[in-house]
Amino acid sequence: MAIDKKLGQIAGAAGKQAFLANVATSEGKASPEDIAKLHWVSAHELFHLLTTTPYPLWISESLAQYYGYKSLKMAGIHSESPMDQWQVFKERFPHAATGLYEAHQKVTGDNDPSYYPLFYVKGAAFWQAVDEELQKQGTALDQLMTTFEEQQLSHELPQSLLNALKQSISEERLKELQQQFLL
Ligand SMILES: [Zn+2]
Repeated sequence: MAIDKKLGQIAGAAGKQAFLANVATSEGKASPEDIAKLHWVSAHELFHLLTTTPYPLWISESLAQYYGYKSLKMAGIHSESPMDQWQVFKERFPHAATGLYEAHQKVTGDNDPSYYPLFYVKGAAFWQAVDEELQKQGTALDQLMTTFEEQQLSHELPQSLLNALKQSISEERLKELQQQFLL
């Protein structure tokens, strides 16, 4: 669905076997950059449709956003990366210093939606950083998707995933990433 670029807002929504995505347009026309964003939003929503794991909200949104980006990259569609977006975003977003675990609690526990954007930007940048570390070791986040638990009771990363990450990423680097993004 076309939305005027002047509004500065594009969104998507996933339901059962269907999703909606905005495409930003100026005077009815979409630029290549707008089309790339449409693909990103669509791939984000497709992630929600395809996954059956009941992730905590911050994990669900951040993974959808990261895999939206990763699919663009694999399709050869140029776009800025979540890490690029985070570098700009963290300079102006009031809650940038808040870790993702606390942001999750603010959104779901305190009903404070002002922390929600962190899931998309800080969260996707976290997964990009993790995936790049894994790729240096010849593996990828894709291979670890099964280590998320079926019944995840906590909003923190499951121990099974942390254990799997420790096979490829040094304890020190993993702590650094957790400190930088999660805590
Ligand atoms: Zn989403």
